Amino acid sequence: MDWRITSSSILLLGIIRFFWGNSEAAQVNLIVSIMLAIILPMIVKLIRDRMNDLAQLLVLVTVALIPSIVFTNHMILDKGLVLLISLILLALNYGAVFVMQHFISDLHGLIASASTDPLTALKNVRLFNSDLMEMERRRHPVTLAVIDIDHFKNCNDRYGHDSGDSILKQLAAMFNEMATPYTTFYRIGGEEFGMIADYFSPSEAEAFLHTLKSTVARRKFAVQDGEMINLTISVGVAHSEKGEALKKTLKRADMTLYQAKESGRNKVMVSAHAYK
Ligand code: GH3
Ligand code: MG
Ligand code: MG
Repeated sequence: MDWRITSSSILLLGIIRFFWGNSEAAQVNLIVSIMLAIILPMIVKLIRDRMNDLAQLLVLVTVALIPSIVFTNHMILDKGLVLLISLILLALNYGAVFVMQHFISDLHGLIASASTDPLTALKNVRLFNSDLMEMERRRHPVTLAVIDIDHFKNCNDRYGHDSGDSILKQLAAMFNEMATPYTTFYRIGGEEFGMIADYFSPSEAEAFLHTLKSTVARRKFAVQDGEMINLTISVGVAHSEKGEALKKTLKRADMTLYQAKESGRNKVMVSAHAYK
């Protein structure tokens, strides 16, 4: 919603009340509306990045309701008092908007941290599972891949756990570099990653994963003391099949990963048949 719409709506409400309302304080009402219409854009400008649609809607609804409540109450006849009450309510309103904005941004932060892996900053396994559920609901064909670092235990044993952590971060950064709008990477285990390809044909998804595997094998990864090492990954792939639960598709990808490991690693293998 645009603040210009909010402002002009307030103004319009004021004019309507002035000409067609039965309030005794019609003039004050109109003045308040004009003032609000002028002040609102200024306040919006001040806290521009803190205003969202919900906040503006709250302002609009409250502002639209206050005069009708106040002016229809015949106990209050003093125009000055009406104006004061309106301004106080307006201030309280903006205070509420401000607090709400903080609350919403805290909530966003909380949601983001609950779905992000703290080491690699990739999406975590919780989000992986919920994205799978969402995709299953949409019944959109997808390709799932399970990616596992080869002989990672050796890396840890040889260069230490911190170097291992650093490799995981470097690999995640590489995945982010290579990601397309149709591919999403997740860290789903210790040294295991998941990838969901959406709006990619099976052959496009496979080609993407082959490029990914080759790029990892060519890349050097920094470990302790500036030493650079090579690394390989194995990838198990499964394309979703009509009527198949994505949990089963994932299971097929997982089983294919084991085949890739058994047949020598540094491979992309695609599940050929539905898992029963
Ligand atoms: P394979 O090729 O069969 O996958 O061999 P692997 O050594 O990679 O597999 P294995 O499952 O035997 O070992 C995985 C290792 O990954 C063991 C564990 O120490 C390491 N690892 C898991 N999570 C982390 C982590 O967060 N940081 C570090 N540094 N290492 C991790
Ligand atoms: Mg491994
Ligand atoms: Mg593993």
